[in-house]
Amino acid sequence: MPAKVVGEEKVKKSPSFVKPWLGLKYLFKKPVTIKIPEEKIEPAPKYRGFHTLDWKKCVGCNFCGQICPARAIEMTWIEVDGKMEKRPHPKIDYGRCTFCQFCVDVCPTGALGFIESYILTTTGDEEELQLYDWVPIHPDKFKEIQDQYRDWRFPVEKIEVNEETREVTYYLRNGETFKFKIVGYGIRPPKPPTKPAPKKEEKKDSKQ
Ligand code: SF4
Ligand code: SF4
Repeated sequence: MPAKVVGEEKVKKSPSFVKPWLGLKYLFKKPVTIKIPEEKIEPAPKYRGFHTLDWKKCVGCNFCGQICPARAIEMTWIEVDGKMEKRPHPKIDYGRCTFCQFCVDVCPTGALGFIESYILTTTGDEEELQLYDWVPIHPDKFKEIQDQYRDWRFPVEKIEVNEETREVTYYLRNGETFKFKIVGYGIRPPKPPTKPAPKKEEKKDSKQ
C-alpha cells in the first residue's frame, strides 16, 4: 500500500506576529529544573551503571570479552595475598565502555553485574585517569558503599598502580583499601618468570 502523504498546505503554518509572544506565558510557571546539588535525582532501578564482579563466581571464560562491542574488556590474571586466582577476570576500560551491559547478559555464571551508580569525574591527571580502568569489586561491597553515600558515585577514590611490582591498591570511599597484583593478561595463564641464565665465565685469552 503506498504511503499516504499529507499535502504541504496542511502542515505549512502562516507567519504570525502574535504567536511568538505566547511563549511569555512560561514566565509565570514553575521552572522545570532540578537544582543539583541541593536536589537529588534517583536513577531508575536497573539503570545501567558501573559493573560489579564476584571474583569467586567468575570462571574466566572470556564470553564477556568476546561480546563486548567496544573491546573494553581485557582478561587479567590476578594474585591476591600471594595466591594466584585460578581463572582470569575481566578488567573494564571505561574510556571505551558504552554501558550496553551485553557483557552482563552473556555472563554464564552471573559473576558480572552492574549497579545504578554512574558518576565518575576526574581531572586529566594520569594518576586519576587510572580510575577508568578497573577490575570491578564484589557487588555486596559496591552496594554497601552506595547505600552509605546514595550519591551514585564510583566507589573507589584512588587506584594506585606500582608499575614495577604490578601491585594495585584500591582506596575505597569508606576508607578501606583493597590490594592485589596483576600478573598477566589474556586467556592463557602467564608464564612463570624465567630465571636469568648463569653468566658464563669469560674465557681468558691465552695469547695475552
Ligand atoms: S557494558 Fe558493553 S561496552 Fe561496556 S564492557 Fe560490557 S559489553 Fe563492553
Ligand atoms: S565475568 Fe562472566 S563472562 Fe566474564 S569471564 Fe567471568 S564468568 Fe566469563
